[in-house]
Amino acid sequence: MNKSLFTFLFLGITIVILSITTIVYASEAIINVNNLNVRNGPGTEFDTISQVNQEDYFQVLRVQGDWVEIELDNSTTGWIAKQFVTLEEAKEEEDQLNTIKDEEPVKNDSSGATNQEALQNDLTLDLRHDNNGVKSKVIVIDPGHGGRDVGAIGISGSFEKDHTLKTALVLKSYLELLGAEVILTRDSDQYLSLSGRASVANNKMADLFISIHYNSTPQYPTASGVSTYYYSERDKLLAETIQQEILVSTSMEDRGIHQESYQVTRMNHRPSLLLELGFLSNPEQEENIQSNVFQSKLAQGIISGIEHYFR
Ligand SMILES: [Zn+2]
Repeated sequence: MNKSLFTFLFLGITIVILSITTIVYASEAIINVNNLNVRNGPGTEFDTISQVNQEDYFQVLRVQGDWVEIELDNSTTGWIAKQFVTLEEAKEEEDQLNTIKDEEPVKNDSSGATNQEALQNDLTLDLRHDNNGVKSKVIVIDPGHGGRDVGAIGISGSFEKDHTLKTALVLKSYLELLGAEVILTRDSDQYLSLSGRASVANNKMADLFISIHYNSTPQYPTASGVSTYYYSERDKLLAETIQQEILVSTSMEDRGIHQESYQVTRMNHRPSLLLELGFLSNPEQEENIQSNVFQSKLAQGIISGIEHYFR
């Protein structure tokens, strides 16, 4: 290939990738009506290719006049009338700014069998009491992100989606030892919609829903600590209790509890929280998050909080 043509193509490809990354995470569309037509172009003259319903949730690719282009799934996009949707700036901006979809994923084997075995050896939870508060409770654990949504990317290249799954699996094993019924919204590396995650708790009439996340602020690499988010005023005490117990168990910095409109808690009719359990953009914290000892402490803190709450 002619060298200048090659350079031209290369630049062209680079520009396309950059613009996709920027637009994809600009905002999110929440559908306000049922049976809303999705069309293959920005206008009613275009064919209907699908329908979406109230509280469905999509990434916005672009807004053109009165029409919004959304990502229906991995390979399909479509247009919906702007008047029937609420557009929200991405709430998890800190995660999503770092989600570069077009890069080859860095392999991270943190949930492999060997790690699981090591984890079991690290179990130090005090399981002596049989009158614990979680027995027979239905608890939904939601490992944030998954599949094509890798979440935040750590300073060493690790993915938030892998850390959240690991934490969820550890929590599940502990909680089951205590007699809880634990449901994971995902137990492998798969993509799930935010509304689908909340639906699990609603459908199962869960006693508790906890969404697990890790934070990232590459512009502030020293940022660290834990924060807990609730949506309903009803869940404020739950947030306080769990935040407090995580701090005791892990000695991490307290970034407080906050009332915030995250979709997984806003659409949840059950007691629900979203936890941000540390910063992957902080080298020390990222390394810590990958250690079994830390994961074990974290799980103990969260469970201790759950127990206090249920008592
Ligand atoms: Zn996240």
